[in-house]
Amino acid sequence: MDEAVRADWGRTDMDLTSMGGTRASPGRPTEVVVDLTRIEDNAAFLRALLQPGQRLMAVVKADGYGHGAVPVAEAALRGGASWLGVAVSEEGVALRNAGINVPILVLGPSHASQICQAVAYDLDLTIFDHAQLEVLAHAARAHQTRARVHLKLDTGMGRVGLQSDQLDARWVNALRGPDLSWVGISTHFAASDDDDPEPTRRQLSRFLDALEQLRWQGALPPEIHAANSAAVLKYPGTHFTLVRAGLALYGLKPFDSVDGLKPSLAWYSEVVYLKTVPAGFHVGYGGSYTTDRPQQLAAVPVGYADGYRRIWSNRSHVLIRGRRYPVVGRVSMDQITVAVPTEDPVNVGDRVTLLGSDGDGAVPAEELAFLMDSIAYEVVTGVSQRVRRRYRSD
Ligand SMILES: *Cc1c(COP(=O)(O)O)cnc(C)c1O
Repeated sequence: MDEAVRADWGRTDMDLTSMGGTRASPGRPTEVVVDLTRIEDNAAFLRALLQPGQRLMAVVKADGYGHGAVPVAEAALRGGASWLGVAVSEEGVALRNAGINVPILVLGPSHASQICQAVAYDLDLTIFDHAQLEVLAHAARAHQTRARVHLKLDTGMGRVGLQSDQLDARWVNALRGPDLSWVGISTHFAASDDDDPEPTRRQLSRFLDALEQLRWQGALPPEIHAANSAAVLKYPGTHFTLVRAGLALYGLKPFDSVDGLKPSLAWYSEVVYLKTVPAGFHVGYGGSYTTDRPQQLAAVPVGYADGYRRIWSNRSHVLIRGRRYPVVGRVSMDQITVAVPTEDPVNVGDRVTLLGSDGDGAVPAEELAFLMDSIAYEVVTGVSQRVRRRYRSD
């Protein structure tokens, strides 16, 4: 072996970025591109559905539904959101460390160590259990502050939350204690995206009963919130003082008949290898696809380890040069194969749109969700951290 080659081979500090020459974004061509202007526009659109005095919380849990929490949060705040929502305290800390200082509510349940962290970083906490109160009081005293809390009522979601008919004087007294700042009361709808409004109506009615009871005691906290995206769009009577929108902020539809939202995430890769094969050619693990005529097979470097689901094997489509082509054979961990008719022009280096639009073609997140018997939330949050995120503003 040539000495120079041998030397290079053995280098452990190989700078891969310099090997790509002049390419603007070196490395694997598989990436998510998020249009932050669209996030901003969606926030403004949702905001316009609210009355004066009602505010928008941008829900940016799970790394901003896979879009990237910090850039999304900043875009949503530019678009008129004034609160942020996260699932766990660690996500709130990341936003604080990025210099964001608006109110941030931890929507999910918190472990004792997370409660301490939340208090230290001035995050609002969701509580529903007396056992949490002692930890809160302790953390508040340790940080010489009052812990900001929102009481969550279960009005029919059947998950975390105090059963709304168990809100009693003991709770009210505890929430008015010296170490707490009782900021809000909330509930969460189980079926606001459903065609049938009855379940939401029943939940709303239980929530209103609880609010009425607090009003009688002169104990209503300043913030009252219940609406997720679907309820923001469909049920103005659920807006109260604050709404919590996730899905719609990203331009994804909680139900079909929504207009005015702009999808903000596109997922791209590239054709890295191309060959023409005869009829009767088997493709991929298990040979689950056999060509019925000569075809071009395009290899695309994305797989289930990137969040391109194995269940999409022989089901999903991608776009190349604006045209739809089927994914054939099994989705592997790191690769898929796309079948292109021999007469269609395709080249190595062509962009492949896995999710998003290209010319007249589109592969919406809702389509990929349907193919896995799920919802768009799972598609976008499922794009793994191996996939680079890039941001643009129109
Ligand atoms: C995730 C979440 C939301 C946002 O729901 P979308 O349907 O994405 O708008 C609102 N409230 C709570 C409590 C949540 O956990």
